[in-house]
Amino acid sequence: MSSMRYPFLDLGRVNAPYAGELHEAALRVIDSGRYVGGPEVESFERELAANTGVLYAVGVSNGLDAMRLIFRAYMELGRLRPGDGVIVPANTYIASVLAVTDCGLEPVFVEPNERTLNLDTSLVEQALNDNVKAVLTVHLYGRPCYDGVLADVARRHNLIIVEDNAQAIGADSPVPSPGDTFRTGSLGDAAAFSFYPTKNAGALGDAGAVTTRDAELAKAVRALANYGSDTRYHNIYEGFNCRLDPIQAAFLRVKLRHLDEETARRRRIASVYDGNISNPLVIKPMIDAPDGSVWHQYVVRCACRDEFRRYLSENGVGTDIHYAVPPHLQSCYARYSGLSLPVTDRLAAEVVSLPVSSCTSAEDALEISQIINDFRK
Ligand SMILES: *Cc1c(COP(=O)(O)O)cnc(C)c1O
Repeated sequence: MSSMRYPFLDLGRVNAPYAGELHEAALRVIDSGRYVGGPEVESFERELAANTGVLYAVGVSNGLDAMRLIFRAYMELGRLRPGDGVIVPANTYIASVLAVTDCGLEPVFVEPNERTLNLDTSLVEQALNDNVKAVLTVHLYGRPCYDGVLADVARRHNLIIVEDNAQAIGADSPVPSPGDTFRTGSLGDAAAFSFYPTKNAGALGDAGAVTTRDAELAKAVRALANYGSDTRYHNIYEGFNCRLDPIQAAFLRVKLRHLDEETARRRRIASVYDGNISNPLVIKPMIDAPDGSVWHQYVVRCACRDEFRRYLSENGVGTDIHYAVPPHLQSCYARYSGLSLPVTDRLAAEVVSLPVSSCTSAEDALEISQIINDFRK
């Protein structure tokens, strides 16, 4: 991949500009004598909460655990019960669905909107049944999946809104939440973040976080992630060990300081692609005005995907597919394989992710656009 003239992603190159700050952060933790919890994790949590515009952030082990802990905490607090339904977008990364089923909750798959590739919020109300108590909204590819329709249906039916914010740290919704916030991670009742190395704010290993305005939920998540213990040697839940390591917290404090530059850079690349790709065989993602997406991926669609990707590869452009097999067609979810989700199935056959990481300059994006325009010309 990295032998490509335009690599899709090269994490060594992504982190190289921060090497000095990352070394300093690692040394600080090594010298601190504090290797679980402590001031580095607490500072990161404060900084993430401030960046998100919520009162509470809890550092955890990864994005999947962040979501599992949110659902588990709602169950411990009696606000969700085993077997309750959760609306999930059919077009998502499988981790979103794994979190739901791991907690004994029942995913109710809803098709995406073809323009946003996100959950089609206008289909949520008709998908509800008496069992459904929550919506997991996924800000896929960095585009906020939140609007007045979703807020309204959640309010009228008393649904908990959980955000899968793994791909959208720093994104802003086009409409405010009832709490008058715009930033993803503050729009619903609780949100899960992932800092997997390829994400917009990547750790140097696995890491995640939960954000919420709800003090009781934050407390339950924190206890569940620490063996179910609220005070030392007192266990109020049958919990787990899902804590954030201080060394990752220290690295993430560096990444958080540079997040706005990274978001601006990704928006610039997206706007270069948007302004220059003009091949009728390639459908571009729409761009909102103002652009609140953080472009974790820039995903185009092409009906002749295999040929398109081969052509791009031959011309030095690395691409990827997010995602080739939707959750309901994975073999672990054979029980959902009979569902009819034609939009999701078609997207899975057509999507192609173009390079948008910090290995890609605006000039590269212009050259890649020209290569795309020459496809089958
Ligand atoms: C990455 C990702 C996750 C899982 O996060 P991990 O930290 O890898 O566990 C969940 N949902 C989405 C949409 C993701 O992109």
